Amino acid sequence: MAKDSWISSWYIKQLPSEEPPYQVNKDVYERFDQRNNLTIGRPLWDKSIQTFTRKTPATRTKKINGDRDTYRLEDYSLFLAGGVSTFRMGNNINVANRGVTSWETLGNKLPPDISRWEGTPEAATKMVTRVARYFGADMVGIAPVDQRWFFSHAYYPDCSHKEIAFRSVDAPNETEKELIVPEKMKWVIVMGAWMDPGMIKYTPSPLGCAETRLTYSQMGLMVSGVAEFLRGIGYQAIPSINDLALNIPLAIDAGFGEQGRNGKLITPKYGPSVRLCKVITELPLVHDNPIRFGVTEFCEICEKCADDCVVNAIPHGKRIWDDPNISNNPGVYTWYLDNEACRKYWSMGNGTNCTACIRSCPFTKHPGIMHDITRAFISKAPSLNPIWRELDDVFGYGKQEDGPDFWQA
Ligand code: SF4
Ligand code: SF4
Repeated sequence: MAKDSWISSWYIKQLPSEEPPYQVNKDVYERFDQRNNLTIGRPLWDKSIQTFTRKTPATRTKKINGDRDTYRLEDYSLFLAGGVSTFRMGNNINVANRGVTSWETLGNKLPPDISRWEGTPEAATKMVTRVARYFGADMVGIAPVDQRWFFSHAYYPDCSHKEIAFRSVDAPNETEKELIVPEKMKWVIVMGAWMDPGMIKYTPSPLGCAETRLTYSQMGLMVSGVAEFLRGIGYQAIPSINDLALNIPLAIDAGFGEQGRNGKLITPKYGPSVRLCKVITELPLVHDNPIRFGVTEFCEICEKCADDCVVNAIPHGKRIWDDPNISNNPGVYTWYLDNEACRKYWSMGNGTNCTACIRSCPFTKHPGIMHDITRAFISKAPSLNPIWRELDDVFGYGKQEDGPDFWQA
């Protein structure tokens, strides 16, 4: 991943691929089954979850009839409209091989009697990075395919449950029981889309969460555009948003950042205010290296997201190896969220997703030299971390704002 300033190239430490900034117990860790996901999986089969996920429309009505300025009809309408191109028109951010995540061409292919593009992995990497940025990616990096991060099974809105298998086959394929990824597809083009803190400051209101949905719409174009580009030069590509594989470890492998206490990827430039998507391809590329810049140490003393989460879904204290919630995956040394409490709040407390733990994070700032200098201190002098945490509060960062100024701009 290209560095953005001389300061960031000084404080960001590049790690060897075999020493990523996460720890996995290989005796415990198993690939995650999307059936246990709280967005696409469990709401379709788990009655204990349905007791709250089905209340989302009623929550919206109640909130619109309430007295908060930022829970109005127009706020909810903007939230829902923001996701139009990835939640409507046959698309869904969580579903593999449908609409914008189609595994087959949507029209683009190699012209007749033309040989496919050939070049070095370095030239290919430069080309696909340019293409990803052209389609709107704010971050682009390359990770090797690591099968651990792919779901064991995909889950579908019709409750079909398909194994994700890696095989020595020529093309990606979906059968009644399987999604088959060719083993020759060894590279993942990971892309990040920045969510503007100027909108995230309104979260958890629907106005702030509209930024999440709008970003997903943009990512629909990014993944389908990059995949179609690859097909047009003669290579196979699998576009994916939240389906198929876990985005955060892939993004860490692609050198985007580290995982924070709030369960999000924390990047040097955008903090956690970034959404992730990816395209898997057979085109040989040069993969990036993971990085470290002091996130873990800062999260250990910060806990601001845990303090601010209204349903206490984010833990205080140390990282652990296991969590009884089936929507978490044991075997990783991390901070495990209470995803059920979070999901319940989305449905019964907010009527949208939430994202307040992105708003409150001290790493969520507009990119700029002053914040870059602070991050340099966080990376290089962690003993000063309590001071930066204190100053974040003193300057009033991370607080929710009501949104009339959005509508008056
Ligand atoms: S999204 Fe909201 S409810 Fe969920 S963990 Fe973050 S702050 Fe808590
Ligand atoms: S708010 Fe603090 S503890 Fe939470 S993810 Fe951000 S830096 Fe880490």
